[in-house]
Amino acid sequence: MANAQYAQLRDWIDRWEAHLIEQRTYLTELDSAIGDGDHGTNMVRGLAAASARADAEVPEHVDDLFKAVGMAIVSSVGGASGPLYGTFFLRFGATAGHVRELDGADLAEALGAGASGVAQRGKPELGDKTMFDAMSPAVGAFAAAIARGETPSTAANSASVAAHAGREATAELVARKGRASYLGERSVGHIDPGATSTALLFQSLAEALA
Ligand code: ADP
Ligand code: MG
Repeated sequence: MANAQYAQLRDWIDRWEAHLIEQRTYLTELDSAIGDGDHGTNMVRGLAAASARADAEVPEHVDDLFKAVGMAIVSSVGGASGPLYGTFFLRFGATAGHVRELDGADLAEALGAGASGVAQRGKPELGDKTMFDAMSPAVGAFAAAIARGETPSTAANSASVAAHAGREATAELVARKGRASYLGERSVGHIDPGATSTALLFQSLAEALA
């Protein structure tokens, strides 16, 4: 099936939650090295709230689903990552619209809007050692693959590969945003926790669309 169906997008969130639960300790270790050690806990709490809200509201359209997910994450995660991921999903849903399936171009546009929302909200620049260093290359790779005529599924694989590469490259960077920026040069040698949860986000999308 060339179009991404509502059920696959719902599965995207479930899969991300499962990966975050699985990697909770690792995410917390990464955040302990350059932040305050709560990223794993924050993300697991946010996604528990998101699935609870999606289960309770039983949305049937993409905009309503991602509004529920985004609002739940914003209101349950106190850390910097909460408003940023919340904005990502709110923008994704609003751009996707009141539909039950998305073609590749629709998905590329919605993912791009999500990433632009993060850029507006957190003001990260590429190379600041944040989630944006995984997110921006991922949405770029997705859009490029769709422009080449690939399916959403293979485009999501390219996005996942790009997100993981972006995440790994954060190790060499000096943090310039968020708590890790307090460490300056001492943040070098550590992978960014938010870039890691973002790599899992795009990995989950690839799995859900496979
Ligand atoms: P907090 O830093 O408030 O404890 P988390 O630990 O949950 O929140 O999330 C930290 C992650 O948030 C960082 O690893 C980084 O990827 C991301 N982050 C922090 N500030 C920004 C920002 N201004 N723009 C983009 N991402 C940011
Ligand atoms: Mg933290």
